[in-house]
Amino acid sequence: MSRLITCLHCDLLQRLSGAEAEAGAAGVVHCSRCGAELLHAHTGSADLPLALALACIPTFLIAVGFPLVSMNVQGATVATTLPGAIVALFRHGMAFLAFVVFVTTLLAPAAQLLFLAGSLLLIRFRRGAPHIPLMFRFWAAFHEWGMLDVLMLGMLVALGKLAAIAAVVPGPALWAYAGLLVLMAAQRTTLSTHDFWRLSEGGRT
Ligand SMILES: [Zn+2]
Repeated sequence: MSRLITCLHCDLLQRLSGAEAEAGAAGVVHCSRCGAELLHAHTGSADLPLALALACIPTFLIAVGFPLVSMNVQGATVATTLPGAIVALFRHGMAFLAFVVFVTTLLAPAAQLLFLAGSLLLIRFRRGAPHIPLMFRFWAAFHEWGMLDVLMLGMLVALGKLAAIAAVVPGPALWAYAGLLVLMAAQRTTLSTHDFWRLSEGGRT
């Protein structure tokens, strides 16, 4: 079986023979014109990406369910979770901003994690193969909208500014978000799109 692939550096569309695609499964395939890397298989198995994707889910639940920060203002301690912050934005008349924060930091990351873990589970246990491409496309759509890294950066900047006016204590959710970003980055390094399609077509699992 052969497949078409475009070089991201020189735009040459080239056809990989079955043997070259197999070589890509084990290592690296280079562009025939400019020599740039076309394929780099990170993994021969769905086990590690699946384990990392599953580990992201409880970490995400901790990040959402526990307080992000607690502040001591004039003797009173105030703590809030991310959903609590979104509700507060809505109540203060910033409905559009609340909606954007909800989509980019709750809905999209949750859907992204569920579709990724779901499609990798189907691959790993060889069940429901017709649904795998659809689930991965949903993952890709939500992946575009998940902005946890932006949220983390914003929270760190806000913490730095708040620390100047009140006693700020980072909550469990802040550490969970930091762990989640590391887990998601590790997950991405173990599974490229090419790896995913190869595994879904019945490559080694
Ligand atoms: Zn090239």
